[in-house]
Amino acid sequence: MTDYRRLRVALLGAGAVGSQVAALLRQHADELADRAGAHLELVGIAVRDIDAPRETDLPRELLTTDADALIVGADIVIELMGGIEPARTYLLQAINSGADVVTANKALLATHGPEIFDAADQVGAEVYYEAAAAGAIPIIRPLRDSLAGDRVQRIMGIVNGTTNYILDRMDTEGAEFADVLADAQRLGYAEADPTADVEGYDAAQKAAILASLAFHTTVPLEAVHREGITAIDKTMMDAARHAGYVIKLLAVCERLTDAETGESISVRVYPALVDRAHPLASVHGANNAVFVQAEAAGNLMFYGAGAGGVQTASAVLGDVVSAARRHIAGGVGVGESTLANLPIVPVGRVTTRYQITLEVDDQPGVLATVAGILSDGRVSIATVEQTVAGEDARTARLEIGTHKALEQDLSETVDRLAASGVVERVVSVLRVEGD
Ligand code: NAP
Repeated sequence: MTDYRRLRVALLGAGAVGSQVAALLRQHADELADRAGAHLELVGIAVRDIDAPRETDLPRELLTTDADALIVGADIVIELMGGIEPARTYLLQAINSGADVVTANKALLATHGPEIFDAADQVGAEVYYEAAAAGAIPIIRPLRDSLAGDRVQRIMGIVNGTTNYILDRMDTEGAEFADVLADAQRLGYAEADPTADVEGYDAAQKAAILASLAFHTTVPLEAVHREGITAIDKTMMDAARHAGYVIKLLAVCERLTDAETGESISVRVYPALVDRAHPLASVHGANNAVFVQAEAAGNLMFYGAGAGGVQTASAVLGDVVSAARRHIAGGVGVGESTLANLPIVPVGRVTTRYQITLEVDDQPGVLATVAGILSDGRVSIATVEQTVAGEDARTARLEIGTHKALEQDLSETVDRLAASGVVERVVSVLRVEGD
């Protein structure tokens, strides 16, 4: 075995991801040493409960409840505890004691990223976080390094596996949201409390991380517009399918250019209609995909497992090898680039196409009234299809596809439609993404 320098690696957390990282670090120690140019010595694993059952066989003598002591003297600290505290304190402690840090903690980076990156900058350390967005899929390094010479225009990501699993089954099986959610919980695809996934919080955290990187701008989590999938039902799924779309929960990070006000960005998470011919439409089950549109590179798609202990461990170990190489080579770490500092606009300033489904009185002149309200609201119609709800029904259903319209105009127009007297019910309003 080559006589490599030893780097002390401290692991915080031995849960779904941490236990796999520990196992792979030990299992592939020689190979990783050859790749990193250093022997990665796992010096300890901090956990809450030493006696808790683990998914992989870990030597008991490595486990400790004293994370503080473990961090002291470590060259690389891997944080896989999750949550904000004490993860934040431990990461800052590690950075300030001269370690490079690896984390998969999207919640922490989306809320305290600037503080952590600043701390690393102060001491020339580097923060690696490939696993914090879209699990095993390499997307952080492509955005940070491979596309550093390009200009990213737009990212559309399916970055939450749970919601993709639910929407995919609703689409392919015609099932209802509540039934698929219950099934997903039983099968372990969804947590007992599914709020973070189904309300779009998890996707919003990842959107903030991806947009910050792509647009060289700090994107606070509060600036991300967020809507979840709990209002999506079978009727909406059927209407989407009928019109040639599939509904996906998308994280959209977009550069907007205005001749008067210049460049800005929009970051938003919502269920959107995606054309069935778009590559994102074929992302099934709990898989993730990130579709990147860059000025010179054109369209790129990154696809794979967005979660899972061993899959995510792959991304973490890639970071550990990078951190080790940098440690051996010396020099200061690459800091976060936030110099573009672009303004972030609210969702009302975004333009997209829409698909509006209305239940209207089945009477002559109704279509003309609806068309008039849309036109007054600066929403131009691209397609209209009328379907009668039932044999002797008083109401008919209108499926209206619009050209691109300003979100603010659209929402005011939908309010006017709802109050118009000819519209019985606004069944759904969904944005169309991916043009
Ligand atoms: P997990 O299964 O809940 O494991 C958390 C681990 O941290 C446990 O071993 C726990 O110890 C330990 N821990 C928690 N609080 C601690 C404390 N105060 N002091 C010491 N140890 C503490 O979490 P996970 O699923 O592995 O996720 C870890 C991170 O990876 C999270 O940030 C998550 O968002 C991210 N991530 C996870 C996935 C995934 O598929 N799971 C995918 C992408 C990113 P005990 O075992 O003793 O309780």
